[in-house]
Amino acid sequence: MKFINNPFDIVIRATLELYPDLDKKEILIQFDPDLRGREYGECGYVCFPEEGETEYLISISINIPFEYMPEILAHELAHIIVGLGPEEHGEEWEKVFDTIYTKCQEIIESDAREYNLC
Ligand SMILES: [Zn+2]
Repeated sequence: MKFINNPFDIVIRATLELYPDLDKKEILIQFDPDLRGREYGECGYVCFPEEGETEYLISISINIPFEYMPEILAHELAHIIVGLGPEEHGEEWEKVFDTIYTKCQEIIESDAREYNLC
């Protein structure tokens, strides 16, 4: 038994195909029932490792529609790829996010063909 269209797996697959080095980082992803808002940072966020630590922690709100949750995951992964900079959602971040989004669409289409979903 397995999910054949788990959108979180698709985001992870797409991101690792584009940025294989990301697999060397320790990244944990959790659903967080305490996140309640709909603004930037309230649907999800990433905790970068403190000095001497290696673990990234992505938190995703469960209080948003399910269909937005994979997008939040892609959003936070793009932050990890770009790194901490002065511009949180600047041009570089936007480019990475768009690239992940496009790759996800490709995977969804090819999976749909593979499993005859369309
Ligand atoms: Zn952000």
